Amino acid sequence: MSYNYQRESMVEKQIKMRGITDEKVLKAMKEVQRHKFVGESLLNVAYQDSPLPIGYGQTISQPYIVAVMTELLDIKDDHKVLEIGTGSGYQAAILSKLAMSVITVERIPELFQQAKERLQNLGYNNIIVINGDGTIGYKKYAPYDRIVVTAAAPEVPKSLIEQLALHGKMVIPIGNRSTQWLEIIKKEKDTIQREKREGVRFVPLLGKEAW
Ligand code: SAM
Repeated sequence: MSYNYQRESMVEKQIKMRGITDEKVLKAMKEVQRHKFVGESLLNVAYQDSPLPIGYGQTISQPYIVAVMTELLDIKDDHKVLEIGTGSGYQAAILSKLAMSVITVERIPELFQQAKERLQNLGYNNIIVINGDGTIGYKKYAPYDRIVVTAAAPEVPKSLIEQLALHGKMVIPIGNRSTQWLEIIKKEKDTIQREKREGVRFVPLLGKEAW
């Protein structure tokens, strides 16, 4: 089966049928070649309904979870988006189809280097990849219209709330090491609103303002 066919089928069966309706998200998931973000030994399972190992104890998230988080973010085409946890660069590639620019931070130097080269080679030229501790955000380009954290935290890092724009939105898995819930954080003039959504299981966010 061709990768194009597998990708169409992934979007239909794993994503649309589970309730994702945002056409822009579905289009991005159809366009980004997930098989280019996994190692050679995993090419045959690149479009499978699960997370996959990317080395260093880390994973590329399940396609459905990538779609859910992206839909919850409600990205507009003039948005600047901060992603914490670059991993393979797959989610950053999806975000880059919807946003004006994406800044993505990865703490493991080898994964940072691989993702940076991969995204460059694939022609994603509105993504900046940074090596560092994303729990403290990335001040240089703040504030961000949207922030997405793709590793689990015990609480929302204060720096990320600070770097979120007014009326901005963040999606982050919050919980303990084994179980978490996706939370939507909205920043308004005098308040921070929080909404708990589906249960998820992510690798831990390790750094100054997390584990
Ligand atoms: N978004 C990724 C993708 O599309 O492949 C999947 C991310 S993986 C589930 C979580 C990533 O978060 C790992 O690569 C891990 O090294 C990274 N991470 C954990 N703590 C971090 C931190 N403090 N700052 C930046 N990245 C971090």
